[in-house]
Amino acid sequence: MNPVLVVHGGAWAIPDDMVEAHLNGVRNALAAGWKVLEGNGSALDAIEEAVVVLENDETFDAGRGSFLNRDGKVQLDAFMMDGSTLRGGGVGCVERLRNPIRAARKILSDSPHVYFVGEGAERFAEEHGIPLCDNKELIIPREIARLREYQTHAAEQPDLFAPTISHDTVGAVALDSTGNIAAATSTGGTLNKAPGRLGDSSLIGCGCYADNGSAAASTTGWGEPIMKLVLAKWSADRVAAGNQPEWVAQEAMNYLKQRVNGHGGIILLDARGRIGIAHNTPRMAWALKTSSREDLGIER
Ligand code: ASP
Repeated sequence: MNPVLVVHGGAWAIPDDMVEAHLNGVRNALAAGWKVLEGNGSALDAIEEAVVVLENDETFDAGRGSFLNRDGKVQLDAFMMDGSTLRGGGVGCVERLRNPIRAARKILSDSPHVYFVGEGAERFAEEHGIPLCDNKELIIPREIARLREYQTHAAEQPDLFAPTISHDTVGAVALDSTGNIAAATSTGGTLNKAPGRLGDSSLIGCGCYADNGSAAASTTGWGEPIMKLVLAKWSADRVAAGNQPEWVAQEAMNYLKQRVNGHGGIILLDARGRIGIAHNTPRMAWALKTSSREDLGIER
């Protein structure tokens, strides 16, 4: 099989002055993931490396630089899934992991379980060689200011979930040379979220899904509507039913809007290497690479 890699860095009304940072971020993630695929590495390794680059980039709402919750803390969620075995690994509400996707990968590879949350997830990570950090190391001044601004003016901003509000979750889907597909999603969730709130990103079938028999999907956007529709699995099932990923991705966005007035974006890839990228927000940062094509974009 010819490998394919697609990454995204969130879907919302990305302002003009942040476009370059978003495009640079997805470009760097694409390069890191492609290096793995090029060397005949696995789809899982490729998406892990791509997502680590995005988590390490403060532009995005993942890893360091994520949105703060109501208490002023970073709480991270991530999930990864292998399309060949259907094994999955997810962490929720972790506060001491720089790269939650690394912990998700360890769970997928080394644990009979699929999810660990909170302190248990951190303990699992530490026991498996992933160093813990202080939550303060994940917090940057931009986000302290953003939370303060939001909390001061909360009453005047009734719609926290408008598409103009940042949705900078990151994700990746890949097809490797053995024909396997995989998907990963990582997020800091939504601004001012209640402590303990879990979004769609780390929920299997909602923000992330992969099955060689259908498709690999990673979503971003307002999490509650996405999880109500189990949107990643909804989309994969439609690919399995014989529809083109490109069409399904667009249909998923229409369904999200029409059924629950949601907004967001999705990347979709099947085991034949067919790609779907769609969003119903003004912009979404994405990048893709195949053996014959490299492309990235931000507009619809
Ligand atoms: N979907 C994420 C969540 O609701 C947010 C995002 O995509 O930026 O947690």
